[in-house]
Amino acid sequence: MASYYAASAHPAPQRPKLSGKETADVCIVGAGFTGMSAALELAEKGFNVIVLEAERVGFGASGRNGGQLVNGYSRSLGHIGRHYGEEAERNCGEMALEGATIIRDRIDRFGIECDFAEGGVVAALNERHMRSLREQTEEWHRHGHTSVHMVDRDGIRAHVGSDQYVGGMVDPYGGHFHPLNFLLGEARAFEAMSGRIFESSRVTGVSQGQKPIVKTEDGEVQADHVLLCGNAYLGNAVPKLTQQIMPVSSQVIATEPLGSELAQQLLPTRHCIEDSRFVLDYFRLSADNRLLYGGGTVYGARDIASITGRIRPGMLKTFPQLADVKIDYAWSGNFALTMTRIPQIGRLSDNVLFSHGDSGHGVTTTQMLGRRLAEAVDGDPAKFDTLAAFPYLPFIGGRLFRVPATVLGSWYYSLRDKLGI
Ligand SMILES: Cc1cc2nc3c(=O)[nH]c(=O)nc-3n(C[C@H](O)[C@H](O)[C@H](O)COP(=O)(O)OP(=O)(O)OC[C@H]3O[C@@H](n4cnc5c(N)ncnc54)[C@H](O)[C@@H]3O)c2cc1C
Repeated sequence: MASYYAASAHPAPQRPKLSGKETADVCIVGAGFTGMSAALELAEKGFNVIVLEAERVGFGASGRNGGQLVNGYSRSLGHIGRHYGEEAERNCGEMALEGATIIRDRIDRFGIECDFAEGGVVAALNERHMRSLREQTEEWHRHGHTSVHMVDRDGIRAHVGSDQYVGGMVDPYGGHFHPLNFLLGEARAFEAMSGRIFESSRVTGVSQGQKPIVKTEDGEVQADHVLLCGNAYLGNAVPKLTQQIMPVSSQVIATEPLGSELAQQLLPTRHCIEDSRFVLDYFRLSADNRLLYGGGTVYGARDIASITGRIRPGMLKTFPQLADVKIDYAWSGNFALTMTRIPQIGRLSDNVLFSHGDSGHGVTTTQMLGRRLAEAVDGDPAKFDTLAAFPYLPFIGGRLFRVPATVLGSWYYSLRDKLGI
């Protein structure tokens, strides 16, 4: 994947492929944010952990995303309260900032160099977006996150040098980082605690039982517990899980380095930005002053002909002054969408657990959910169980028609965004 992140990644060892039989207390499938977060938590508690990764650490969404720490979930806390009750809202509210705290804590404790920068903004394009962001600000305040605040048209110009926005919601506890370097730092810390990672080791199946066995092409791991964290890339290793989510791709482009003066004009506070549309744009500066600009949701994660052709027009609408700027990198990645847009965490059996479906906002939640998986393995499942209690809803249209049905729904919401209603 010719991403800016791969090109600027810290050197990492090529880990061995699994061959033959191994045993562990816990076997984790997938070296993305979810899997590595759980792996680190468990290694710190003294568990003997093996991580199996089909490709390389960070191959999935975690090594390709916008790098934006967006607090909360893909649904607002108010939405959760209205649909699942006050207790669910309270529980989710209590965990909503935990992922961002875990990231800051691990960067400090493990000395992870990943260009971390503070602050994020959700930008509004019309008055409907502003109403929704005002509601969300009030919800955050109710849940104790009182530094979140609204800005008007003039206020948002202090953050974004674009005429597009009528205001927005600023979260000083948001932020951004180089996601792949963060993950590689987590992997290094995990290995320093004697954790083992096998790369190029695609899991082909899991036989459940008192001691489940995780199988790859050339080997197997027998463990007391198995954690399935393959998300949108899981394939057919565990068909029951794959059916529950829809892979969705998002695309990102990175400009050439812009120089500090132009970078300062575009994003004076260097906060990361996402807009409030149903199919949204997100952008931020990298440490070397490139603009990383993403968007372009594709349901079903089909390949598209030209990533730059898809994303650049949105970038130029936001920043027309970039018309002559070169695009150095263009890439895409897949995240897992759930019907409810709420992540799913649960058990296939007593000792085979899973987490997936952060639905496009997973940089912080995956860290928190990895911790929930680790707590459940360690005999403290209370918080895991509150999240596992969220209902699972199948996609409308079943496996065959879920993509066209979801595309239809998204057209409706995108049209509302275009008309500003
Ligand atoms: C382009 C893009 C931009 C995004 N931007 C943002 C953002 O700015 N902010 C935000 O909050 N969220 C963002 N997201 C979402 C976020 O990146 C994801 O929610 C999160 O990274 C998911 O992490 P994960 O560990 O669950 O899955 P992944 O990172 O996808 O990791 C799963 C891993 O499991 C491995 N795997 C799968 N199947 C198997 C198997 N059978 N055997 C062995 N290994 C297997 C895969 O190779 C992969 O490495 C974005 C997503 C994309 C795609």
